[in-house]
Amino acid sequence: MIRSFRYTVQPARIVFGPGVRSEVANEMGRLGRRHALILATPFQCPDAEHLAGELGSLAAGLFAGAAMHTPVEVTEAAMAAYEAADADCVVAYGGGSTIGLGKAIAWRNDAAQIVVATTYAGSEVTPILGQTDAGTKTTIRDPKILPEVVVYDPELTLGLPVGMSVASGLNAMAHAVEGLYARDRDPISTLQAVEGIRALKEALPAIVGSPRDLAARTTALYGSWLCGTVLGTVGMALHHKLCHTLGGSFDLPHAETHAIMLPHTAAYNEPAAAAALAPVTDLFGGSLGGGLYDFSASLGAPLALRDLGLAGADLDRAAALAVTDPYWNPRPVERDGIRSLLQRAWEGIRPA
Ligand code: NAD
Repeated sequence: MIRSFRYTVQPARIVFGPGVRSEVANEMGRLGRRHALILATPFQCPDAEHLAGELGSLAAGLFAGAAMHTPVEVTEAAMAAYEAADADCVVAYGGGSTIGLGKAIAWRNDAAQIVVATTYAGSEVTPILGQTDAGTKTTIRDPKILPEVVVYDPELTLGLPVGMSVASGLNAMAHAVEGLYARDRDPISTLQAVEGIRALKEALPAIVGSPRDLAARTTALYGSWLCGTVLGTVGMALHHKLCHTLGGSFDLPHAETHAIMLPHTAAYNEPAAAAALAPVTDLFGGSLGGGLYDFSASLGAPLALRDLGLAGADLDRAAALAVTDPYWNPRPVERDGIRSLLQRAWEGIRPA
């Protein structure tokens, strides 16, 4: 039987396909903008310079100082660059870190945002901004934060290193797995979640075998769009709470932490959300936690938190933090259960 639901559309325009990066100028025109501040990380600065060259006089400036966790001081420097360039929009070229900077600017001055997304993290389709001020991370949700246009050109992901592709793809799948059992899920978010997981499950092994396979890259980016849209639409649960705790309090890397935790959080919630998870449980051989672990192992993904540098002595504190102000979760979040989940994830043991 269909559950009662509320359905909200996140109003963004999606431009998808090999070669569509050439349409950024056109998208600026549609928005009535003529002066873009282009954003990138230092690593992607050469690619952003190339884009600026293609945009010609539409590129008013380039700020290539985006950093992880959107530090407020970086945003302030970028705001100064925005004003100095007399910009009327931002073009964020990159992954979640660069997109976060564009969102932080837009949250402050309502700049229009065009995102050229180059990883699978999904931030480009959410109205959520995480930023850090003096080491404290806060999360803000506001319609102003949602980018107006997302340009998904899979050719720009051909060079995303395999390890990052795998971790980022599993990060995307985690949004969809949690979306399947979200309290506020709707029939569309469920369709998007199942299709997003299916697409990434098909694409990631092909990318590992052949990183420059454009068809596989296209399927992966399509899946990450769907999974990111789920993240932007419905509430997240235990998995995201644990990953925020591990990232925020223990400085573990974002995508890899998601990749390691996903089989364990899925296994924890599986008994309480079996019906909601059934369409993807089937995809993973009848056991979602175990199946996801085997899938990750087959891709060469990191499997153990200890390999990310987390000390065993930190697990008690991590468990205590994770059960403080827990997000809603289909299975009660209990300290002992979370502590043993973390132990298995730390050691890299396949979920039971
Ligand atoms: P990232 O943006 O930090 O990118 C990691 C590195 O890879 C950077 O140096 C980047 O320049 C480089 N890179 C990106 N694309 C590349 C490509 N195609 N080829 C080669 N190198 C490339 O990593 P991420 O995982 O995309 O983003 C993580 C951040 O995004 C975290 O801070 C996380 O909190 C945030 N995030 C936010 C949301 C949200 O909705 N607010 C959602 C997901 C992630």
